[in-house]
Amino acid sequence: MNKAKQLYELQEVDLEIQRKTEALAQVRSQLGKDDDLVAARSAFDTAKKHLADLEHQQKTEDWELNELGAKIAVIEKKLYGGSVKNPRELTGFQQDLEILKTQRGEREDKLLALMMDVDSLHQDVGLKKSDFEKIERDWNENQQKLSQQQTDLETELANLEQKRNLLAGQIDSDSLSLYEEVRRVKQGQAVAKVMQGRCQGCRISLPVSDQQRARMGQELVQCSNCGRILYLS
Ligand SMILES: [Zn+2]
Repeated sequence: MNKAKQLYELQEVDLEIQRKTEALAQVRSQLGKDDDLVAARSAFDTAKKHLADLEHQQKTEDWELNELGAKIAVIEKKLYGGSVKNPRELTGFQQDLEILKTQRGEREDKLLALMMDVDSLHQDVGLKKSDFEKIERDWNENQQKLSQQQTDLETELANLEQKRNLLAGQIDSDSLSLYEEVRRVKQGQAVAKVMQGRCQGCRISLPVSDQQRARMGQELVQCSNCGRILYLS
């Protein structure tokens, strides 16, 4: 059997193993990576908390306004009820009433502004909620896909390793060592096809004698320029 052909076939498997190993590393780095999900959840939580704070303020303001209303009613009863006759006392109550009514007006404005803020925050919370839910759905879907890809790649790699062992077992150890050595130096591609008299590793034109030796396949011939093992099919 042609030694260079055997090495070329081994190289095909090795390159496939390399590609799948890189893909697996990529998949593993994405598995469990949840930055976007965490950010969306945090934005949703912050908006909810902000809304709760404002709603609490609104309740307090509402309560204060009722208190003020009750105070005003008491004074108005005194003023217009006829129980207080003293003009000085009446003037005093009149002044108190004016002050309280001014305060009430201010509080009503404040409450109105708060209610509008609460309204728009409600919408904001709704948006952030649907954002988060969508991101969470997509994330779950994607994680499932990645998990499946991981399983598939692991299975494929196990099969390729098995195939590699079978192929390597049929190759003599000297050829294998040379292959491993060139592969290390050339970072992956140890065997180069010869096409139209050129080494496909470095594109140089090869001496005819090298081409002939490579075609015979009895011995391994290396490219005189790049050192790759030549394979002529
Ligand atoms: Zn070459």
